Amino acid sequence: MPSFEEYCDEIRDLWDTLWLTNRGVKHRQLEDMIQEYLGVEYMTLFVNGHSALECILETMELGRDGRNEVITTPFTFASTIHAIVRKGLKPVFCDIKPDDFTIDPDKIEALVTPRTCAILPVHVYGNVCDVDAIGSIVREHDLKVVYDAAHAFGVLKDGVGVGSFGDASMFSFHATKVFHTIEGGAIAHSDSLLCDKLAQWRNFGITGTESVEYVGGNSKMNEFAAAMGICNLRHIDVEIAKRKAVAERYWANLEGVPGIQFCKPKPNVRHNYAYMPVLFDPSAFGATRDDVLEALAAEGIGARKYFYPIASDFECYRSEHDSSETPVAKWAGDRILALPIYADLALDDVDRICAVVRKCAN
Ligand SMILES: *Cc1c(COP(=O)(O)O)cnc(C)c1O
Repeated sequence: MPSFEEYCDEIRDLWDTLWLTNRGVKHRQLEDMIQEYLGVEYMTLFVNGHSALECILETMELGRDGRNEVITTPFTFASTIHAIVRKGLKPVFCDIKPDDFTIDPDKIEALVTPRTCAILPVHVYGNVCDVDAIGSIVREHDLKVVYDAAHAFGVLKDGVGVGSFGDASMFSFHATKVFHTIEGGAIAHSDSLLCDKLAQWRNFGITGTESVEYVGGNSKMNEFAAAMGICNLRHIDVEIAKRKAVAERYWANLEGVPGIQFCKPKPNVRHNYAYMPVLFDPSAFGATRDDVLEALAAEGIGARKYFYPIASDFECYRSEHDSSETPVAKWAGDRILALPIYADLALDDVDRICAVVRKCAN
């Protein structure tokens, strides 16, 4: 969080303007700041990332032409799949790559049918999907592509902002993310026509003082949330640099331990170090992921099975999906553990966490 004083200074003028929501001054300022920081053409803010995702699917009017299948992966947060289903579309699960857990482009084409309308890949843990291969598949089959970039705030590939790829990208500014507005989210895109449409869908489909063209919902960001974002964005580079130091400390500690796999950022990627996912291969490591989780918990250290279960095994989806059809996602879900990472995590605490992890191997 910013300091209490910094936040108070930022919200003080709201008591003069009394403009609390509906695209206020802070909202517009934050939209411009984020658009510039992410290096994307257009940016539309939302009350949260999930609403942003539902809204872009609505705005694209997917499903209207009878094509209702959206190819995605089960190795993601519930939001990605729920957004598809809640918009009346059908998720089709594609497997992931074992090295960075993003959608495996070699397995996409076998899943394309005459009913496919879009692909919704996830830049999971901030790892950039194979955007070139995905781009050529969507061009060939006339599909839309919307990226779930909830984990990828500030990530650049070859100097290009990750929100520049595909038709649109969703970012989440939830309190647990690298950059936050308490709750919040955004759609980045490069289509000038989408700006008004998204803003209208976000506000009940109201298009003028006496016209309502769409059956839109309410997913506007308020001024207090935008003010939090303005403060946090001032410190984002320091935040990411501190996380980087923490991540490097983890790698230095755990590198070479048999049965441990991380995903280090590729050299052409500026990463955001949002998560510290570690994969434990029980036969080589000598203990399971669950053993490690338990050992950490016993020391008061909170780690998370992120993502487990995979989405196709959720109670609400398992009757219609078979998680054994995406064996790599299943394999990763059974072995992955997200270790603690945040900007102010002390490096000697990282050493302590790693000592507990390494001890499990003996
Ligand atoms: C956080 C998250 C979302 C949802 O964002 P909210 O802002 O919490 O609504 C969607 N997808 C992924 C992968 C996420 O991590």
